[in-house]
Amino acid sequence: MRQRIDIAFMTEKVAVDIRGCFWHRCATHGTKPKANADRWADKLDRNVARDQHTVQRLTELGWDVIVVWEHEDPKEASERIRNAILARRAGLKATTTERAVP
Ligand SMILES: [Zn+2]
Repeated sequence: MRQRIDIAFMTEKVAVDIRGCFWHRCATHGTKPKANADRWADKLDRNVARDQHTVQRLTELGWDVIVVWEHEDPKEASERIRNAILARRAGLKATTTERAVP
């Protein structure tokens, strides 16, 4: 299974997964193509399964995975990424503080 991540901050272990609304079945904008419906359903299902697998695997390896959707405000998304990185940096500095996992 091919693993793909869009941006990785190696030191902080923060990964950013950017997802297209159509290809990754965004809850708001995911559509079902009518032509070749079965083939598409199959393909998009595989994408979603791969997304879940990627997030699960990275989380197991100690990464924070920030999922950014195509429809999101880039400013808000970058704020979220920034916060995750800052939280990681704070965690890296503090040796006794347990990192809060949402
Ligand atoms: Zn969307």
